Amino acid sequence: MTLVVQPTKIVCIGRNYAAHARELGNEVPAEPLIFLKPPSALLPPGAAIVVPHQSKRVEHEAEIGVVIGARTRHASPAEARAAIFGVTCLNDVTARDLQRRDVQFTRGKGFDTFCPVGPWIESEFELDALSIRGRVNGQDRQRGTTRDMVFSIPTLIAFISSVMTLEPGDLIATGTPEGVGPLVARDVVEVEIEGVGTLINVVEASSTTSR
Ligand code: ZN
Repeated sequence: MTLVVQPTKIVCIGRNYAAHARELGNEVPAEPLIFLKPPSALLPPGAAIVVPHQSKRVEHEAEIGVVIGARTRHASPAEARAAIFGVTCLNDVTARDLQRRDVQFTRGKGFDTFCPVGPWIESEFELDALSIRGRVNGQDRQRGTTRDMVFSIPTLIAFISSVMTLEPGDLIATGTPEGVGPLVARDVVEVEIEGVGTLINVVEASSTTSR
């Protein structure tokens, strides 16, 4: 299995769907809330998400992943739109208990295997009408569309590019709709973007019990 992307960074957006912000007891942010996942978290389609022994609560976050196609810095929303190479399915797997405990997101979002992505990058898409779904063991858990987003994808990319240079291949996780929930060993988790594809991963417990 090979990765569909090799980003220099994975930039994620928090609370970009109002109903998801509410379900975790948060306000919708006044400007995009960004954080990073390390490229070492990337996981190909079909591979196993490993629940680390440090966490008692690992959750799925079905998201629309955007792959950058051109070096982008201080872009306008129109320039940001033109810089998109394609979209793909992404699961922003999160150790919710560690995220809450640390305040900083690095550990809760950063474990190896916590960024499944794929199964491929679709370069023909209707950015204003993408729909995202999350399923666990065949049951619907999450559903949303780009119309539900607090900040549009071009607005997000423009905002990020005002902070850091985006390089070709960089990946943006554009936020998750409501319905996040727990994953346990042997679950099968799917992220589907209509017209793009379905990312499927299994879940397994860590064989490491300490360190
Ligand atoms: Zn997320």
